Amino acid sequence: MFLSLLIIVSLPSCLLRQAPLPVVVNTWPFKGAAAAAWSVLRSGGSVLDAVEKGCARCEEEQCDGTVGFGGSPDESGETTLDAMIMNGNTMEVGAVADLRRIKNAIGVARAVMEHTEHTMLVGESASLFAENMGFVAEDLTTDKSLNIFSQWLKGNCQPNYRKNVSPDSSKSCGPYRPEAEQEQNEGPRHVNIHSHDTIGMIALDQNGHVAAGTSTNGLNHKVPGRVGDSPIIGAGAYADSSAGAAAATGDGDIMMRFLPSYLAVELMRAGADPSAACKSAISRIKRHYSDFFGAIICANITGHYGAACNKAPGLTEFHFMVSNSESDTPVLKSVGCF
Ligand code: ASP
Repeated sequence: MFLSLLIIVSLPSCLLRQAPLPVVVNTWPFKGAAAAAWSVLRSGGSVLDAVEKGCARCEEEQCDGTVGFGGSPDESGETTLDAMIMNGNTMEVGAVADLRRIKNAIGVARAVMEHTEHTMLVGESASLFAENMGFVAEDLTTDKSLNIFSQWLKGNCQPNYRKNVSPDSSKSCGPYRPEAEQEQNEGPRHVNIHSHDTIGMIALDQNGHVAAGTSTNGLNHKVPGRVGDSPIIGAGAYADSSAGAAAATGDGDIMMRFLPSYLAVELMRAGADPSAACKSAISRIKRHYSDFFGAIICANITGHYGAACNKAPGLTEFHFMVSNSESDTPVLKSVGCF
């Protein structure tokens, strides 16, 4: 009796209670995306469809200008897209990176998963694959992205992600060459609340099927060819129906070095509740990059969820959406950063 009481007291509360299922959690206050995913799930659709439709809604709505076409032009003015989708039952993944001229990046990621034996396609070849699969090729540039690009050129190409180059990338536009070793200089990171965002979405159904996905146009003024964390499995998102799912957003160049989504899922497998798992994944990065810009959402297979973010300039609180049967409509939640 005493022993069983002890065991109950020491188990995390999330393992004792079942939370409402199905549930969808997504990064940032992207309400349209949450509503699109929730309407798929509540009408009996699959978690993969929910994640795909939710992220696709953000691509259409150009959520924050940081998902889909017409946002985050690179150094040459082009918008390129990164996306992934993961099936936590089969561990299949489809991902695309540096995708050009195709608006529906998460749709192409799903096509990679369902119509190839591969996991990730990139660049021009990913666009060609998409066209062959019936996706329409169109210019992703808009007046807004052209304007962001021309302002950047007028401002001597600032902010700028090059380092150790000549001419000095903190003052001048390129073309750049490598700088002589003795003059090398790290330069500041320019990632802040205005330069990026990603829709990251995780979904669980009543049968214990878990899925995750992401879609983004990456960082404003990135070096052409730059791929962020969003399409990288275990970094941008991860799903395993035997443990849970997680999705990350923020400074992908830093965050992908730590596979935070994979780490959070493994911590939940080991019994950590979702908030603690999210926090530990952020702490791991913080140890090396104390003021990195980033956040993560987590959910375990009992339907409990959590989120965490690193306190950084411009990020003291992180907003995310939760949709489940408790309110039957997506609810905006927030967590204080630490
Ligand atoms: N993680 C994305 C990237 O680095 C951007 C973001 O989520 O804010 O491409």
